[in-house]
Amino acid sequence: MQNPFLNHITNALHEIEEAGLCKKERQIVSPQAGRIDVQLDGQRHDRIVNLCANNYLGLADNPRLIKAAKQALETQGFGMASVRFICGTQDQHRKLEQRLATFLGKDDAILFAACFDANGGLFEPLLSAQDAIISDALNHASIIDGIRLCKAKRYRYANSDMADLEARLVEAKQAGARFIMIATDGVFSMDGHLAKLPEITALAKKYEAIVMVDDCHATGFMGPQGRGTPAHFDVVDGVDILTGTLGKALGGAIGGYIAGSQPVIDLLRQRARPYLFSNSLPPMIVAAGLEALDLVEQSDDLRTKLFENTVFWRAGLEALGFDLQSGEHPIVPVMLGDARLAQDMATQLFDEGVFVAGFFFPVVPKGSARIRTQMNAALELSDLEFALGAFEKVGKAIGVIK
Ligand SMILES: *Cc1c(COP(=O)(O)O)cnc(C)c1O
Repeated sequence: MQNPFLNHITNALHEIEEAGLCKKERQIVSPQAGRIDVQLDGQRHDRIVNLCANNYLGLADNPRLIKAAKQALETQGFGMASVRFICGTQDQHRKLEQRLATFLGKDDAILFAACFDANGGLFEPLLSAQDAIISDALNHASIIDGIRLCKAKRYRYANSDMADLEARLVEAKQAGARFIMIATDGVFSMDGHLAKLPEITALAKKYEAIVMVDDCHATGFMGPQGRGTPAHFDVVDGVDILTGTLGKALGGAIGGYIAGSQPVIDLLRQRARPYLFSNSLPPMIVAAGLEALDLVEQSDDLRTKLFENTVFWRAGLEALGFDLQSGEHPIVPVMLGDARLAQDMATQLFDEGVFVAGFFFPVVPKGSARIRTQMNAALELSDLEFALGAFEKVGKAIGVIK
C-alpha cells in the first residue's frame, strides 16, 4: 500500500541517519552509578565508567533514598491515581513542597511531574499579552516551549550577553510592557557555564523586571549547602522564581518544582495546566525527595567529592590537549565540532570501557558537536584515571589530540 505519510516520515529518518545525527540508545542493565553494566547488540559489558549522568551527588542508587522509597511504597502505596487537587495530595507532598521552599529561600513551592512540566506551566498563568518575557538564547527547550504557550511578548538575548539583555529590557519598556520577566537557566547545560546572576538581578532591579531561574543543573550541589546558583552568587532575594528537578542531583528519579513567593505559587496551583491536568507524584518519589534533601543539608561530603573529581578531570583532559569549555561546573564539554566525529569518539570510548554521549544538532548548534562529560560523587579517582587513559588512546587514534 502506498502511504505518503509514512514515506514522508521514513525520509525524515533517512535524513537524520545520513547526517550522522541519529541517536541510538544503549541499554543499561545495572542501577545508575559510577560504573554501570551495559547491553549492546546482545552483548553485556560490565563495569563501564559512566561520564554522562546528571547523577551529580551519586544519589541515584543511594541506600538511604532506596530505603525511604521502599518504606513509602509499603505505607503510602504505589500511586495516587489522581491529580493533586482532586485526591492526589498526601501530607508528604505538602511537606516536600515546604522543604524545597525553605531550602531555596522562598515562601512556597509547587511540585510537577517533571521540570519540563514546571517550565511548561509557569509562564501562561502569570503573564499575558500586555507583558514581556526576555529569554536567554541558550535556555532549555522546556523554557522555550513554556514561553510559546504564554501570550506575553517574546524577546531573546544572546547567551549571557548583558548588553543585549539591557537592550531588550529597554525595548520591552518602550513597547509599553506592563510586567517584564527575565528567564534564564542557572547553568547552561551544554556548556556548563553559569548564568551571570549578579548582573541579571541588577538589571532586573534597574528595569523593575521579574527574574526566573531554572536551576536544574545546580540544585543540590552549587552554592553553600547546594542551594543553587542564586546562593552561589549570593543573590537569592534577587531571583523571584526558581524551577528545578528531582531528576538530577536530588536522586535522579523524576519530579519538578517551582519555588517563589506565596501568591505566585498559590495562583499556579489554581491555573498551571500541567499541575491541574497531570498526575500527582508517586509517594515513593516524594519520600525519597525528602530524604535527598536531608542528605544534601546534613553534609558537604558529596559536594566536596564532586568538585574534587571535577578539578582532577578537567586538569587531566587539559593536560592531554583536549579543547574544553572553560568553567567550574561538573559539566566538562570536550569540543569536537563535527557530529560524526563526536559519534565515532563516543563509540570508540565505549569499546575502551567509558560511557559518554556525543551531543550534536539539534541539542547544540550545527558545527559545535561535543562530548559532554559530567562528573559525579560516585566516581572514584581510579575511575577517572582509567577514563583519562581511554580519552588519550581514542583522542590520538582519531586525531583530536597529538
Ligand atoms: C533537565 C532539565 C530540565 C528538565 O527536567 P526534568 O525534570 O527532567 O523534566 C529542565 N530544564 C533544564 C535546564 C534541565 O537541565
